[in-house]
This record gives sequence, structure tokens and C-alpha cells, in this order.
Amino acid sequence: MIEKFSHLLLRSIAYFILEPRFKNGKWLISKDSLQCLSLNLDSLLVAYNEALKIFHQLNLCSTCSGYCCYGAYNRLSVYDHIAHKVAGLKDSPAWGYRLHPIRANTLNRIDEGKCPFFIAGKGCALEYRKRPALCIWWICNKMKISLNDNEKYLLKKIRRKIDKVHWAFARCLLLGGMSRLK
Ligand code: SF4
Ligand code: SF4
Repeated sequence: MIEKFSHLLLRSIAYFILEPRFKNGKWLISKDSLQCLSLNLDSLLVAYNEALKIFHQLNLCSTCSGYCCYGAYNRLSVYDHIAHKVAGLKDSPAWGYRLHPIRANTLNRIDEGKCPFFIAGKGCALEYRKRPALCIWWICNKMKISLNDNEKYLLKKIRRKIDKVHWAFARCLLLGGMSRLK
């Protein structure tokens, strides 16, 4: 319950405050906060690597048609956008499309086509550090059956670590970490 509320709050902060600021182009992450955000970025990449080890060991995605990547919508959120900015990566277009603060994310879905990063026969074209956080922690039914309890527990912990970093991003940017262009 607390976790659900925390996710809702994170999404609401993104939807109502952070994403509009980035999209209207009048706000920038200040130089001072980039430094503090980069410390959080290290923790994020550690969590991503932990997930990568589990999924590589499981080795299910390489032989799958990738139905989780169906739907012509972008899974990148404003928190991925912040991580990319801090890492100096170029963002893909249409980031933030997924942000729905109140209703179920699936309502935002167009069930045709595939994610632009999906390559048939190869899977996801993005390196882990560039993937949407959602694609790092989310597991499909096939995985739910194949993962053991310990691996599921570790993945829950990884999601919590990712949430912690997203909260650190939100706190930093809400508390003076962005400057308004004149
Ligand atoms: S997460 Fe599941 S559905 Fe998606 S590619 Fe991997 S095995 Fe297939
Ligand atoms: S970013 Fe990669 S893993 Fe995520 S939906 Fe797109 S192709 Fe699939």
C-alpha cells in the first residue's frame, strides 16, 4: 500500500511538475545539481547491472517474440529523461508518453506496432543504461514462472533501489535543482 502510494506520488510529480517544465523548454537542470544527481546515477546503474545479471542468467528474452515490447508507445518516463541528461546521453523523441498519474498505465496504450527500439530476432536495441526503468524491473508471466523466490526477492529490491533514485531526482529538482530561463 505504501509502495503503491509512493509510485502514484512519483508519477504525479513527474506528470504535473517535472515533465511540463522539461517540455516547455523554459527550465534547465542547474549545474550544481547535475553533480549531486550524478552520484544517484551511479546507484541507478548498479541496480541496472544487478538486474542484467539475473535476466542474462534466465536467458528467456533471446528466444521470445517480445510481446512485452508491443504497443506503439514510449516507455521512457521523465525520470529516465533526467538520468539520460545527467549521463550526457541524447534522449529519444517522445519521452514521457507513458506518464499517467491516476489511471492505469495500460489506458495509455496503443495496441499496435512495437516499441521503436525493438528489433525482430534480436530484442531490445538499447543498452541497459539507456533503457526505460520500466523495462529493467518489469517481469512477464513467463519470467514469473521461471524465476525462483530468491531472484524475485532480488528484483523487488532492485525496483526499490530504482525508486529511491527516482525520489532523489524528484527531491533535488523540486528543491531548487532547476533554474528557469529568462
Ligand atoms: S520480458 Fe518476457 S515477454 Fe518480454 S521479451 Fe522477455 S521473455 Fe519475452
Ligand atoms: S525499450 Fe527495449 S525492452 Fe523496453 S519496450 Fe522497447 S524494445 Fe522492449
